[in-house]
Amino acid sequence: MAGFEGLEQALQQRQQDALYRVRRTLESAQAPEVVVEGRQYLAFCSNDYLGLANHPQVINAFTDAAQKFGVGSGASHLVNGHSRYHHQLEEALAEFTGRPRALLFSTGYMANLGAINALIGKGDAVFEDRLNHASLLDAGLLSGARFQRYLHNDADSLGKKLARTEANRKLVVTDGVFSMDGDIAPLTELADVTRQHDGWLMVDDAHGFGCLGETGGGCAQAFGMSLEQLPVLVGTLGKGFGTAGAFVAGSEVLIETLIQHARSYIYTTAMPPAVAAATLASLQLIRDGQHLRQQLETLISRFRRGAQQLGLELMNSTTPIQPILIGDSARALQISAALEQQGIFVTAIRPPTVPEGSARLRVTLSAAHTEQQVDRLLGALEQVCQ
Ligand code: PMP
Repeated sequence: MAGFEGLEQALQQRQQDALYRVRRTLESAQAPEVVVEGRQYLAFCSNDYLGLANHPQVINAFTDAAQKFGVGSGASHLVNGHSRYHHQLEEALAEFTGRPRALLFSTGYMANLGAINALIGKGDAVFEDRLNHASLLDAGLLSGARFQRYLHNDADSLGKKLARTEANRKLVVTDGVFSMDGDIAPLTELADVTRQHDGWLMVDDAHGFGCLGETGGGCAQAFGMSLEQLPVLVGTLGKGFGTAGAFVAGSEVLIETLIQHARSYIYTTAMPPAVAAATLASLQLIRDGQHLRQQLETLISRFRRGAQQLGLELMNSTTPIQPILIGDSARALQISAALEQQGIFVTAIRPPTVPEGSARLRVTLSAAHTEQQVDRLLGALEQVCQ
């Protein structure tokens, strides 16, 4: 097709640079043992940190609601897509996060896009950690506000940038748990600096909910962050919750502002009601899931100890995201392929998802894994990385 030669060349270049992305087709449910294109693997790359994506109680809640409410929601929340399951889930999430209200979005990407763009625009400024998730960076760039990145997890760097701004509204945005590194943002310091400069703090805790905090309330619970310290709290449902979608929790005024102005809330079909019903079941499992978080902690320590003994380069993470830093993209791909030969599935994460020269194997652990399975991974890594 005319003009497409350039695209083809760009794709070839991507392949040569070992940056080409491929999809693999899963032929089984999310679980530690998966079938990928006809072969069984032990997988360490899902964000289903608590093993709820395939939990019988969550599946039952989903099928029961689908029997009653069908499959599709039929319209956006503001037309006639907002069901009693959605409403109950919003109320349950507000209570869970200790916020006056919560609002559901169909995906985390859309929650971030919608919230940031409803809160700021031209004349405002947005400050983002340089390692924030792509959806947060995209949302900030799209907003029309002055876009600034501060050094990773560095409240001083943020403070200096905040001090220099003349902007009207100032929104500070960070991941709670960083998706590709697994480390946790220093929320108390970030909140202090943000408040000193009359800004608003927004935390996307996609990877913290379910895993961190006494009852799985994520970073906000672990740090005891009040509504005043953390006025905009985002969680996603496709990871620790094991279902799909996302929510923003905060004050009455915040949620009403999002309902009026968040375009990715207004102009999209509501998540299927059965997904909301399933998430209500997984929320209960999370609240009661002390044993799941304990199991995760055991597995994380076991993996870190073993990987350190093998001399592998880990990151500063205490969460289920335990990347092994490789550096070179081609080498990361090679190791991932060699693990695959041994029946272990771990994806190689390369630029631009992570900074240049910091390709890694993103190992993620789940409470559904056993200690023996972690040992199997370590055994395979020993062979492959030698
Ligand atoms: N925020 C973070 C930190 C994420 O890691 C992700 C998913 N990778 C998202 C948002 C997007 O969430 P969703 O997959 O529900 O769109």
